[in-house]
Amino acid sequence: MSANAPAFDQRYVRELPGTYEHVRPTPLANPHWVCWNAQLARELNVPFDADAEALRALSGNGLFAGSEPVAEKYAGHQFGVWNPDLGDGRGLLLGEWADANGKAWEFHLKGAGKTPFSRFGDGRAVLRSSIREMLASEALHALGIPTTRALALVGSDEPVRREQIETAAMLTRVTPSHIRFGHFEWFAYSNQPEQVAALVEHCLVHHFPNSRSAAEFFTEVVERTARLIAHWMAYGFCHGVMNTDNMSILGETFDFGPYAFLDATIPDFICNHTDAQGRYAFHQQPGIAFWNLQCLAQALSSQVSSDDLKAALNRYADTYNDHFLKLMGERLGLATVQENDQQLISDWMHLLASERRDFHHSFRALADRAPDDWAQLDDDAIDRPAFQRWRSALAERRQNETDQGIPLAQARNPISVLRTHLAQAVIDDVKKGSVASLEEYLLALQSPFERREDWQRWSETPPIDYQAAPLSCSS
Ligand code: AMP
Ligand code: MG
Repeated sequence: MSANAPAFDQRYVRELPGTYEHVRPTPLANPHWVCWNAQLARELNVPFDADAEALRALSGNGLFAGSEPVAEKYAGHQFGVWNPDLGDGRGLLLGEWADANGKAWEFHLKGAGKTPFSRFGDGRAVLRSSIREMLASEALHALGIPTTRALALVGSDEPVRREQIETAAMLTRVTPSHIRFGHFEWFAYSNQPEQVAALVEHCLVHHFPNSRSAAEFFTEVVERTARLIAHWMAYGFCHGVMNTDNMSILGETFDFGPYAFLDATIPDFICNHTDAQGRYAFHQQPGIAFWNLQCLAQALSSQVSSDDLKAALNRYADTYNDHFLKLMGERLGLATVQENDQQLISDWMHLLASERRDFHHSFRALADRAPDDWAQLDDDAIDRPAFQRWRSALAERRQNETDQGIPLAQARNPISVLRTHLAQAVIDDVKKGSVASLEEYLLALQSPFERREDWQRWSETPPIDYQAAPLSCSS
């Protein structure tokens, strides 16, 4: 970054005193670049490249001009249990950067060392989970799913103890705001309604231009969250740790841990091996998000009347259903939602689940053929008559669509898919010193609808006997 480059701003720090602690990053020893997201850097018009000075700043060894790092205080419900002792325990807000359109993006350094909120943790992030976050946030973004982004990933040989010894890394996470449901919960619980009001005001001014009051703000959070979860469900994404401290107020996918996209269609799939009860199983996500919104409603009760809170919560189910039908319809090549589409979609999900068919390939196989050629897929079904009935119904429905819905279906069904076994193969390569497969997978996930001969590997399903390494909260 040149000496006269524009500096970072600190709106969060200026406007919300009392919600954070100033903390300096703990430098990572001997840092090296693992991944630089050139596409995002261009989008944000960041004033630096993957150069030595940026490496220092993004590994805790230096600071950008104007950056005043802080650890944010929040609390949350973890697996349904209230925990007041949370906060940024291993990540720091570095400051805000305005892109060419004047939109401000917070830069957050994950793995930046201990803070007053680290409790027993070491303040570090490991390379494996940082690579997983980089891949997931870019994959979701390319699918049109709201998410935080990942700009840069720096590695080191500093050892970190998890289930085994791993190496420390730092990930630069970028989003307009890192405010979580848990921020509001903490300031409500600790009897600081003026801080709840300040958080609401900050969100209204910077992040919710269409809302004019706390009640409208909460309504919009409900709707954004409902649409986010509909997106996850339509694309087979399982978050794994939907604690209220991991819920973004912006309705973005936030805090990647033991997440997984479905391979086989298993509605009660649990990706987090510490979630023995399946609280955060795939099919639980819509209900859990609503539960989390109820926690947020309680935290906002000093600012919004209970009638308005209830009215906002009542928006959840319809918003979720409408969005889910729209997204699933589009995946099936339907540009509009019509009366019987709900049945068509639920029959399809039932077929996929009862035969545990691959979630992504099953959609893409339909998209790759005109409805007249769907008979070629009959052999993929165990219950052929059921599939034949269903595909005939969809073919009939697609007759009303422009171009029979083929271009739409192809634009909504990814060819390259983020899969746990492929992410692990890339991680293994990086650990052996080669970043080539990480760079290629990232590119393929950033253009998931593009078919390229040399990207075939990135659409492969896991081997039948593949046993994923257990993913836990430290993943
Ligand atoms: P998470 O499971 O990543 O959502 O984190 C839950 C809480 O634990 C948050 O307050 C984190 O800041 C904190 N935390 C997670 N990992 C670490 C770590 N390695 N060191 C310090 N704090 C951590
Ligand atoms: Mg978290």
